[in-house]
Amino acid sequence: MPIVTQIYVKANGKKTESIRIRPNHTVKEVKSVLCAAAEISDKGNAHTDAILKLYNVRNALVPIGPNIPKNTPEEPYTVVIKMVPKATIDPPVETKKLMETIRATTEVMEEVPKLTSDMAEIQKKLVSAVSAAAHASPSVSPLAAAESTTKKPYSDPTAHLAMLRASVYDEETTNLILATPRPVFSSTVLNHLKHPTFNIWDYNEVELIGLMENMFVEMDLVGTFKMDMDVVRAFLARVSVTYNQNPFHNFKHCFCVTQMMYGIINVTGVITKLTPLEKLALICGTIGHDLDHPGMNNAYQINANTDLTIIYNDISPLENHHAAVLFTLFRDPSLNILATLSEVQYRECRKQIISCILATDMAKHGEILAKFKGYSTDFNFEDQAQRQLLLQMIIKCSDISNEVRPKHVSEPWVDNLLEEFFCQSDKEKRDGLPTAPFMDREKVTKPSAQVGFIGFVMIPLFELVAKVLPNMEEPIIQPIKKAHEYYKSMLETKPAA
Ligand SMILES: [Zn+2]
Repeated sequence: MPIVTQIYVKANGKKTESIRIRPNHTVKEVKSVLCAAAEISDKGNAHTDAILKLYNVRNALVPIGPNIPKNTPEEPYTVVIKMVPKATIDPPVETKKLMETIRATTEVMEEVPKLTSDMAEIQKKLVSAVSAAAHASPSVSPLAAAESTTKKPYSDPTAHLAMLRASVYDEETTNLILATPRPVFSSTVLNHLKHPTFNIWDYNEVELIGLMENMFVEMDLVGTFKMDMDVVRAFLARVSVTYNQNPFHNFKHCFCVTQMMYGIINVTGVITKLTPLEKLALICGTIGHDLDHPGMNNAYQINANTDLTIIYNDISPLENHHAAVLFTLFRDPSLNILATLSEVQYRECRKQIISCILATDMAKHGEILAKFKGYSTDFNFEDQAQRQLLLQMIIKCSDISNEVRPKHVSEPWVDNLLEEFFCQSDKEKRDGLPTAPFMDREKVTKPSAQVGFIGFVMIPLFELVAKVLPNMEEPIIQPIKKAHEYYKSMLETKPAA
């Protein structure tokens, strides 16, 4: 027996109306019921097209169709009509075909039956499918289109941004964090924070946020840029909930990378050579460098042909996404720690943050190392390009720095990373996708993974940076070599299988 769905809608400034949607309604019929209830017209005219959108109270798009999710009178959907100019130039045949595909995709996605209660999941799929189609358009990117709705009358230009907004929206948990008192730390803890030996496992997430706040103060960013500490805290709280709860790529990893960056610039003293904008870019870059990481690497994204690879054309899809999510957070005035920067400062800072985050793609490792090697023997701090490369090297080191830490701090991370790798590899096997041997639970052991990684990736990277930055040997390189020996001995003593 088909069930009628009762939903509640309102248009701006009007009272909430209750409407009933039948399962045999077409999308078109549902749209006209919505318009009638909200007392608005979805008819365009000779010059404009009208696009109907439905948002929930969390400002996320709701798929319009007979399977529209139920809601309550307290949380009505908002009906919005956007009038966009009709295209004035007849598009070429290829574009017309593409427009048809985009329209068809949108219609199909709106028809997708609502089988689970996980609305956010379907929501994400809907907006990314539309954005993938929109991005495939030869005329203009979704981001550019979002800035100028006059250019793309035939699809939803805000779809990609809607997807990004969905990634960063968790106000409830953010508010819970903000409702807790600001933790206070002793000077011993704050001093220890500047060293690679800092034990992150001693602190909960609210305390980690407090420690990060302190880095902003100590790096003199709050003073220089006149930052509002409540905005800094709200930003960090939102960051913490925007990281997914992956075994490895989670908020604690974000903290570790940020803290190691802070440790490196302090123990080497390079903090005194960096400009305030460079310090700001480094801390924003480390904080944002894995935002909304899905727990599957770029190889998986590309092989599984995910939405991110379509949006970013296979070019560092994850890193591009992390940076885009970070700048989506900055669009919210209550989280925008860059709000006090001048336009020129903002442009420069944004450039450096993006450069830092994109440098964390290990596919770029060889290229970045080779470039830096060329400068390392005669590094020139007066040269902008060399300084930018140094920032990239610092974030790269920080990102893979777990083995710089004492064994009791670093070892759980190896297990976490392998767990994430094995989950990916298992899924790839189930889905018939290519797998990487270093992620395969049948082929990898903890010591074998670590010996290779430390010897071939970490040591060459850190030793290269040590040619430019002083005082790396004792606090940073020696612990890495000690960890290398530890895992080598584990490998040697391991009984043959
Ligand atoms: Zn990372």
